[in-house]
Amino acid sequence: MQDCDFLIIGAGIAGASAGYFLSRHGSVALLERESAPGYHTTGRSAAFYAPSYGGPNIRPLTIASGPFLRQPPDGFSDSPLMHERGALYIARQDQLATLDAFAAALQVLEPDVSRMDGPAARALCPVLREDYVAGGLFEPECSDLDVNAVHQGFLRGLKQHGGRVVTDAAASSITRIDGLWTVETPSGTWRAPVLLNAAGAWADDVARLAGLAPVGMQPLRRTIVILPPPPGFAPTWPVVLDIDDHFYFKPESGRILASPADETPSDPVDAQPEELDIAIAIDRIQQAADIPVRHVENKWAGLRTFSPDRTPVVGFEPDAPGFFWFVGQGGYGIQTAPMMGRLAESLIVAGRMPEELDGFDVAAASYAPDRFR
Ligand SMILES: Cc1cc2nc3c(=O)[nH]c(=O)nc-3n(C[C@H](O)[C@H](O)[C@H](O)COP(=O)(O)OP(=O)(O)OC[C@H]3O[C@@H](n4cnc5c(N)ncnc54)[C@H](O)[C@@H]3O)c2cc1C
Repeated sequence: MQDCDFLIIGAGIAGASAGYFLSRHGSVALLERESAPGYHTTGRSAAFYAPSYGGPNIRPLTIASGPFLRQPPDGFSDSPLMHERGALYIARQDQLATLDAFAAALQVLEPDVSRMDGPAARALCPVLREDYVAGGLFEPECSDLDVNAVHQGFLRGLKQHGGRVVTDAAASSITRIDGLWTVETPSGTWRAPVLLNAAGAWADDVARLAGLAPVGMQPLRRTIVILPPPPGFAPTWPVVLDIDDHFYFKPESGRILASPADETPSDPVDAQPEELDIAIAIDRIQQAADIPVRHVENKWAGLRTFSPDRTPVVGFEPDAPGFFWFVGQGGYGIQTAPMMGRLAESLIVAGRMPEELDGFDVAAASYAPDRFR
């Protein structure tokens, strides 16, 4: 039996970021079922940071994460976490009204975004088809993220503060005995007064194990393909996103990374790409751009897990003292990780929102599990 102050189930970016910040206040044990942290969703992302991405409860978390990602604390990482790229949202003639509405909403948050016509959009990414792209919106702040560096930085920091990362440690039983959450795993039994559920796609399973009602988390599968570079390829192209979120593509290590932006409901599993989704990705991208595809160089799929209102669930379960939900990061868990970690720290240790979010129109209630109870 091993005791600590904070016990966290799941060592993806969520568990790692919460553990990093909580390890400043007490002992932390991070329990991970797999033999290496990051095997599931965290290791399968498209790795970009876009303040425009996500709804009104996501954007503040992303924007407030920017300073940490741009200038992490000393010793966090040997290399930069972010690399400038820019995002280009594109629209066909029939999508221009959607593009204009998005531009108007975004300009309030990001004055630097610029609305442009078709030729200007094509100048930023010349493989875009003249007969397809009628307009664009450029978001300069969008960047590539070094996901591994962010994840490892959190894990390293946690260990430097005396925290432990325990792999091959699937939580198989969770009970609350004498005020302590007691978690049995193949790597030992752990106890703590505070238990964080950071189990990603398995969040509801972990709640059930603890005898609690699920909140209705839904994992949605998303597919990525890596394609050979087309003629005229430049590594400096922006990430190009369909304004209706039906596809995106971007340069990645000299290749094209592309997705059909699929959201297929799935059980919590080790997600694998389906041939149909790969074909849809290629078809949609070829309608918009001259990217010949002779073969697919690599492919994978991952689960983006959402709550019923697509806002993360962060907070204590109302009738289970010490059980803290930290799930539902959806498609934004990397770009929001620093502020999500701070949010968990601040709610658990101080019972309030972190000051970095003071200027934003968000409250603890926006994220609390109470909204599903
Ligand atoms: C294709 C794709 C593209 C994406 N692109 C982006 C992007 O560009 N930018 C961005 O910010 N986000 C992106 N995301 C989303 C981002 O990857 C996720 O929001 C984030 O990784 C979720 O992290 P997590 O820690 O909650 O989940 P996970 O990384 O899945 O971690 C959960 C962990 O919990 C463990 N676990 C579960 N049950 C148990 C148990 N009983 N005991 C012990 N351990 C357990 C699992 O093994 C797993 O390792 C993308 C996701 C996908 C799939």
